[in-house]
Amino acid sequence: MSTLAYDAGRLALMLNELRLPTMARLWPEFAQRSDKEGWQATRLLGALLEHELAERAKRRIERHRAESHLDPTKTLATFDFGMVPMVSKAHVMALATGDSWLEKGATVLLFGPPGVGKSHLGCALGHALIDAGYRVLFTRTSEIVQKLQAARQSLQLPSALAKLDRFDLIILDDLSYARKDQAETSVLFELIAERYERRSLLITANQPFSGWNDVFPDPGMTVAAIDRLVHHSTIFEMNVESYRRRTASDKQTGRRRQSSSDNHQEGATTMTG
Ligand code: ADP
Ligand code: MG
Repeated sequence: MSTLAYDAGRLALMLNELRLPTMARLWPEFAQRSDKEGWQATRLLGALLEHELAERAKRRIERHRAESHLDPTKTLATFDFGMVPMVSKAHVMALATGDSWLEKGATVLLFGPPGVGKSHLGCALGHALIDAGYRVLFTRTSEIVQKLQAARQSLQLPSALAKLDRFDLIILDDLSYARKDQAETSVLFELIAERYERRSLLITANQPFSGWNDVFPDPGMTVAAIDRLVHHSTIFEMNVESYRRRTASDKQTGRRRQSSSDNHQEGATTMTG
């Protein structure tokens, strides 16, 4: 070893102290190569830092995925767009990049009867947005309403809502199952109003707006909530037969479906104001 060599033990300690685990793991191998191949010092430093940054980004996305509560199996790759011809794959792929709609806090609404893939599609968008660097929370609507109600009871509602601000997107699954008795304290409305034009929501519901009267305490609040949600929104009406039922009957009759999607008619409504 040359007399200019640095104490390896101290190097490890410093990298640990600075929380640079990737550099701590890689430097011995990189340093050896660098010595052997006569790298410039900047090349060695640059290579180590780039690995540290790449690993850090990967860990960050893993953390976001873990906190999202998204079902890991419900992704765009496992979603068959051929089953919902009114949902344009191209449109969904554009939403999956996030950029423009998340920045203005716009809403995506997925309507349709049970089993048509609303939760799956919502989840799939969530995964894609996490891959793109955004933070997403998937929750059943009734569950988040319960949590926010508990927060309100202990006078913590504002801070609970503020904590949810870290999510670029909250997916409220099954809005129409949130019951009126739950809604009495209107926390769902407060969540919608709080995020309006700032932070996005994706909502799945078995019933379109006409069936939402049971979700909010009074008709005035229902109208006010819908008004905010549709202001900047994309609505997909997924009025097809249940995927489970169709795949079950496909298996029985041995029919094969060809999954094609990009050439289908656009069935989404985009509203901006
Ligand atoms: P919904 O939320 O509309 O009630 P789900 O998203 O829970 O329906 O879908 C029911 C089941 O069918 C899930 O296992 C889901 O993964 C599957 N499924 C539904 N639609 C599709 C689709 N287009 N491609 C692949 N799987 C689908
Ligand atoms: Mg569902």
